[in-house]
Amino acid sequence: MPGFELFGAEEKKEVQDVLDNGVLMRYGFDGNRNGHHKALELEKDLATRMQTKYAQVVSSGTAALTVALASAGVGSGDEVIMPTFTFVASFEAILSVGATPILCDIDDTLTLDPKAVEAAITPKTKVIMPVHMCGSMADLNALKSICDTHNLILLEDACQAIGGTYDNKPLGSYGDLGCFSFDYVKTVTCGEGGGLVTNSEKYADHAHKYQDHGHDHIGNDRGAETHPFLGYNYRLSELNAAVGIAQLRKLDKTISLQEKNYNVLRTALTTIPEVTYRKVPKTGVESYAFLTIFLPTEELARKGHKALGKHGVDACFYWFDNNWHYYKKWEHLLEQKSLNKLSQEQQNGLLQNNKAFDQSDSWMSRTISCLIKVSWTEEQVKERASKMVEALKSIL
Ligand SMILES: *Cc1c(COP(=O)(O)O)cnc(C)c1O
Repeated sequence: MPGFELFGAEEKKEVQDVLDNGVLMRYGFDGNRNGHHKALELEKDLATRMQTKYAQVVSSGTAALTVALASAGVGSGDEVIMPTFTFVASFEAILSVGATPILCDIDDTLTLDPKAVEAAITPKTKVIMPVHMCGSMADLNALKSICDTHNLILLEDACQAIGGTYDNKPLGSYGDLGCFSFDYVKTVTCGEGGGLVTNSEKYADHAHKYQDHGHDHIGNDRGAETHPFLGYNYRLSELNAAVGIAQLRKLDKTISLQEKNYNVLRTALTTIPEVTYRKVPKTGVESYAFLTIFLPTEELARKGHKALGKHGVDACFYWFDNNWHYYKKWEHLLEQKSLNKLSQEQQNGLLQNNKAFDQSDSWMSRTISCLIKVSWTEEQVKERASKMVEALKSIL
């Protein structure tokens, strides 16, 4: 998955453009920038690649989620339904706009279970936020129809699945809003950065203002701009955007390399009947950022994960025990350890999350995900495939 594997002359050239004119900021200084507007260019490229009307780049994936939520008017008293398996950024963004994250079970897609989502809806629910973890996606059709029935916003976190599709649409473009991360370990990286896409003129208009202190971006005199509403600073610098432009151009190549490597590994594993695979919804195509398998029991999954390590198969994850990605280790959220005082609504709402998620546990305890790299040689992929088979057979 990491775009940094493909870092090269293309990225350097884009950065050099910025260094040559010295304008490191995206707004103003037009006389000096020699025609270079890297953040703007990245937004145009992102909207085109994701087949949406609008894109807004920001300083991180977490910022993209935050700006997306704020742009849709989500705030105090609102509940956002999110999965038990995701990165901590999901609830951070929700809390930061004053809303309350409501955890919800996943199914064998390892993303939101539509049935559990329906059960979690209350009069306070405003957003359903599926997270397309590890290169594959939620059942977006089912979630969309729930949103339509209950008049909710569908916000896709596609940070780990950029380049995948659902119903022939790029992941991130299906919902009302979609978010991407360009942090250092993502498929497209610019060091630190993120982006959101939408077809809503209103959300897009809110987003560009909100991420820049509420500036209206009218006219050429930044100092004379007015502020139709409050905002913050989630801007992306021109240096980061420059790297992103070169990286985004490589996305299709990255995905096809990932697919090729994924298929070699998956074909090798078909010789082991005990190994099964996460469910990919019917019209979905993965980004192939990870190969994710189930073993028959928790005990075998734990043993399998250890055996993979021992056989030299690196970058395989047992998320069930992971400190960042699974609700069991989110004590800071569940125990409300916040430096600043949470609102009474958040304090009350968060209590709903202090319960067991048995269905999530039943899938995650059996799950192992292995990162797919793009820089492996054909020889290395073959060797990895046989080591994986050897490792897993040794514990079955
Ligand atoms: C990486 C990631 C984010 C946050 O992105 P940052 O750019 O690191 O802030 C959000 N959600 C998911 C699922 C991620 O993997």
